[in-house]
Amino acid sequence: MKISKVETFVLHVPIDPPITDAINVATHWGLAGVRIYTDEGYVGYGYTGTCAHGDDMIVDTIERYYAPELIGKDPFMVKEIWDTLRYGKMHWVGRAGIAHMALAAVDIALWDIMAKASNKPLWQYLGGHKSTGIKAYNTNGGWLNWSLERLLKDVTDIVEQGFTGVKIKVGKADPHEDYERVKAVRQAIGDKTIFMIDVNQQWNINTAMTWGKKLEQFDLFWLEEPLNPDDIMGHRKLADALNVPIALGEHVYSKYAFRDYIHQGAIEYCQVDVTRVAGITEWLQVAGLAASYDIPICPHVGDMGQIHQHLVAATSGAIMLEYIPWIRTIFVEPATVKNGHYVLPELPGASTEIIPRYFDQYRIR
Ligand SMILES: [Mg+2]
Repeated sequence: MKISKVETFVLHVPIDPPITDAINVATHWGLAGVRIYTDEGYVGYGYTGTCAHGDDMIVDTIERYYAPELIGKDPFMVKEIWDTLRYGKMHWVGRAGIAHMALAAVDIALWDIMAKASNKPLWQYLGGHKSTGIKAYNTNGGWLNWSLERLLKDVTDIVEQGFTGVKIKVGKADPHEDYERVKAVRQAIGDKTIFMIDVNQQWNINTAMTWGKKLEQFDLFWLEEPLNPDDIMGHRKLADALNVPIALGEHVYSKYAFRDYIHQGAIEYCQVDVTRVAGITEWLQVAGLAASYDIPICPHVGDMGQIHQHLVAATSGAIMLEYIPWIRTIFVEPATVKNGHYVLPELPGASTEIIPRYFDQYRIR
């Protein structure tokens, strides 16, 4: 099989109503992606996720530097292709960020082709581990711009829908307000619901130490991204001092960066995101690394779960997957949660194929 054509796209799917966390305002979810065509008729779909900014630079990278290298290559040689692109012309200017997100889109499309050509959903093509579904936790009721009233209504609804885990955003200008919201949510969802909070890097080490200790009493399953993601030492101090496990990974771009976090004891739940670590090829290596330290994997869903549901279903150390349903309706086989569990995909491929009419509706490039 040979790659015959590479075509990029940017879709902006509206988020209604717009949401905020401590550092982002999101009105649309951006899919910067690629369709890779082959001489045998298989078409692979891959994408990375953005807050609808910077996607043009991601597809520029694919068009200018990756696509010319792909034509004529066999998609089944995905690891060789990954090395060629990773250590090619973009290496000088980007070993993380845009370059890795562009490579993620390409790599995911290649795995989509391989699974389709093997007539298996990706999770079975990779070697299945969870045959009865994947535990889901819901992030979509806990945004920072929600009023306390809406926050409590949404988390209560989520639990009533059958979810056994919820996550809310913190990182208000005054941490006292975070404290009151966390306290009220714990009361609303009861003692048995798994409850996580996400700081989105808003705190410094002193704030995190002080408020992390005050919030321990609410039985938090994890404290997510308390600090700047480059501050491994700060996260290690928190992991040592707090009785709440530290979770992060959505801004960690390579297996080397994860190695340093893991080796220094600075990460206790690994949220490796396939759209950030240059695709499935590198995600699987990070998963192996985490497994060797018995660190559970709970991916951040830059893909909104379409691809990660396959990876979690194929990985023994992956225990749970985030759920945010913003873009699911554009896909041929949308990620679906019933009774708090992702229903495993059945169609061949990586669940990345987009219904054609949404290219008309949401395409901006
Ligand atoms: Mg997060």
